[in-house]
Amino acid sequence: MSTSIESVLVENRVFPPNDDFVRNATVAGMDAYKALYKEAEDDFEGFWKRQANEHLRWIKPFTQVLDDSAAPFYKWFADGELNVSYNCLDKHVVEGRGDQTAIIFEGDDGAVTPVTFKQLLARVSRFANGLKQAGYKKGDTAIIYLPMSIEAVVAMQACARLGIIHSVVFGGFSAKSLHERIVDVGASLVITSDGQYRGGKALPLKPAVDDALAQENTEKVRSVIVYRRTGGDISWTEGRDIWWSDFEDGQSDVCEPVAMNSEDPLFILYTSGSTGKPKGVQHSSAGYLLWAQLTVKWTFDQKPGDVFWCTADVGWITGHTYVTYGPLAAGLTQVVFEGVPTYPNAGRFWEMIGRHKVTTFYTAPTAIRSLIKASEADAKVHPDSFDLSSLRIIGSVGEPINPEAWVWYYKNVGKERCPIVDTWWQTETGGQMITPLPGATPLKPGSCTLPLPGIFASIVDETGEDVPNGKGGFLVVKKPWPAMIRNVWGDNERYKNSYFPSEFRGYYLAGDGAQRDADGYFWIMGRIDDVLNVSGHRLGTMEVESALVSHELVAEAAVVGRPDATTGEAVVAFVVLKRERPHGDEAKEIAKQLRDWVAKEIGPIAKPKDIRFGDNLPKTRSGKIMRRLLRVVAKGEEVTQDVSTLENPAILDQLTESV
Ligand code: ATP
Ligand code: MG
Repeated sequence: MSTSIESVLVENRVFPPNDDFVRNATVAGMDAYKALYKEAEDDFEGFWKRQANEHLRWIKPFTQVLDDSAAPFYKWFADGELNVSYNCLDKHVVEGRGDQTAIIFEGDDGAVTPVTFKQLLARVSRFANGLKQAGYKKGDTAIIYLPMSIEAVVAMQACARLGIIHSVVFGGFSAKSLHERIVDVGASLVITSDGQYRGGKALPLKPAVDDALAQENTEKVRSVIVYRRTGGDISWTEGRDIWWSDFEDGQSDVCEPVAMNSEDPLFILYTSGSTGKPKGVQHSSAGYLLWAQLTVKWTFDQKPGDVFWCTADVGWITGHTYVTYGPLAAGLTQVVFEGVPTYPNAGRFWEMIGRHKVTTFYTAPTAIRSLIKASEADAKVHPDSFDLSSLRIIGSVGEPINPEAWVWYYKNVGKERCPIVDTWWQTETGGQMITPLPGATPLKPGSCTLPLPGIFASIVDETGEDVPNGKGGFLVVKKPWPAMIRNVWGDNERYKNSYFPSEFRGYYLAGDGAQRDADGYFWIMGRIDDVLNVSGHRLGTMEVESALVSHELVAEAAVVGRPDATTGEAVVAFVVLKRERPHGDEAKEIAKQLRDWVAKEIGPIAKPKDIRFGDNLPKTRSGKIMRRLLRVVAKGEEVTQDVSTLENPAILDQLTESV
């Protein structure tokens, strides 16, 4: 990693928040943001102490804020005790919000089930009492393999209530991925369902659990609790399997929350696998919850009466922090959705926003790009055909959002009224890190803007030295923060080597390339592993992709480098058009148009040498483009890497053909 990453992305549009919004905001105006930031800078531990005392309910107060004696194995609020589920549920009942709706669940079929905080607490307590009776206790590990449902939230919260460390595995993963995670976390419990509904179809889940448990090193699993969702025949192992309804039958609605040490692990969650084999990220109890709650308050400017909707599955970190923990801790009413954005048609998200009067909508660029494509093909599913007047704030997470998609989202969904919070963060960071505050930060399409108060993000070179604004480099966080990863589960060395390599002076290395502009705004340029080196210029993937996506024919694009005799590396672009995939002379003609377009938008150096068209791109099941596989395909080699988290393996064949 020698020279720095360069940027040729020019994006000058600025969208300040309107005065009305600023007046009523939680963090009102840039001065308020700067004051908070400065408070953290001037008195780092004092700042976090204040936040932890104001936002969390403690069983035993902490006396020490940060213990860095074994850095990078940091401890936060280490001698304090609390219970996460108490902070998400009991707190609201005790403080008089028990009858407020906590969750509005909408099934794939459109059936709506609301649950209040009081009811949710009773359900969590019954399930937790069942777990207690079955002998599960603090420190045990459980795999949760459930569809998006109230039950998924209940299962996670019940584990948190007893100190059982959960690891949620996304319902789309195979028996093999499930098996790897069961073994890696040493699970003694699996919580699953017979099946799930997606896009009008009933898909089985339990058979993958049976397959996984038939494989070696799974003898520790004593119980499999099965929630009945789809009905129908499933195979059954007597003595091990038990229906959810039988499991909680007769249990009391009251369950004393277990006092947990701040640093006791709350969960383990595997990363998406965009850049390599997934890592088992271990999170803490107090620090994690504090940041989940605080970021909901700041980034989403929570207000009484808000209806929050994060579309992420609980199988991802976004679904942990912004479905199961943050919104509940913050006392919000939220929508939980079982289905997919395209069923019964691609207007589903917009229709649901109208139905539930959603005020805060948080989704991923991959969903936005696919809904742009769908709504340009069919006006009936265009956001204009729905009532989106309840929206106040819209957000994006998971990948860089291309400026073109940002502007579409801003105009068509936010109606030029709702700020977009483009939130940069990772499984490892626990919560949002670099993001606009909706009532403060002037927005620039494609930039995640500025770090949150208490987060000391920076861009450095390969020696850990700060680079000047306008120069690309490695995105790092210089000081620890409460919600940071505590370890790669059971692998101290991988934790240190991945996130705190010695050249970086003890800073947290995020693995993304980025730069800051003259205003100090952060622009994520892509993964460090994906950086292109063309004729000695190091280019981020993000800008070439954004240039392609800004062409009227293009829905999505992924760009990688391939070794090249003359330029060192050549740009290879994989492109999905808004229309069907072109062939023959037509493909050649469009490829030429796109090449000329990139040359005009960025410059000749970024011009793709090779353009390939596909119906889709290889993505993780969380919807992120897997460029590491495209690099192999671009070279014409066989893919031998870990593809366990790849959503659509068949697409790789299509992309081997050059135009
Ligand atoms: P793995 O670590 O296994 O390769 P992953 O990095 O995709 O998987 P996640 O933790 O889900 O797993 O994703 C975090 C990454 O997503 C970030 O490092 C960044 O590359 C990208 N990302 C998330 N949000 C944004 C955003 N708002 N803007 C730009 N990039 C983002
Ligand atoms: Mg990552």
